[in-house]
Amino acid sequence: MKQFVCIRCPRGCRVQIDETTLETTGNSCPRGAEYAKDELTNPTRTLTSTVIVENAVIRRCPVKTDRPIPKPIVEDAAKALDGMKIEAPVRTGQILVEHFMGTEANLVATRTIGKREDA
Ligand code: SF4
Repeated sequence: MKQFVCIRCPRGCRVQIDETTLETTGNSCPRGAEYAKDELTNPTRTLTSTVIVENAVIRRCPVKTDRPIPKPIVEDAAKALDGMKIEAPVRTGQILVEHFMGTEANLVATRTIGKREDA
């Protein structure tokens, strides 16, 4: 038996799941069962971070994946952003990297940032 705290809504049910049968208890709705099964068999996370933005009024641009990526690659994905640089201007929702880390997810900007006037 494994236990997860469901994060699909603020209620935060503690969901127990049988690793063999995938039967769940503790979830107050079907979404909790789905969440526990996903966490057990294919855990994913949405990556949020920042990257350097050049010629801009601020130094870093917040970014995120537009859908969850496999949890085992989240750490490598975060490291990949360490050296990444983008160029201003950038707008909210702009795709910065398609199929980020070979996944179905795109890396997108989550803030509009203008170009520096002297740049
Ligand atoms: S099981 Fe349902 S009610 Fe409970 S936290 Fe998950 S989504 Fe919310």
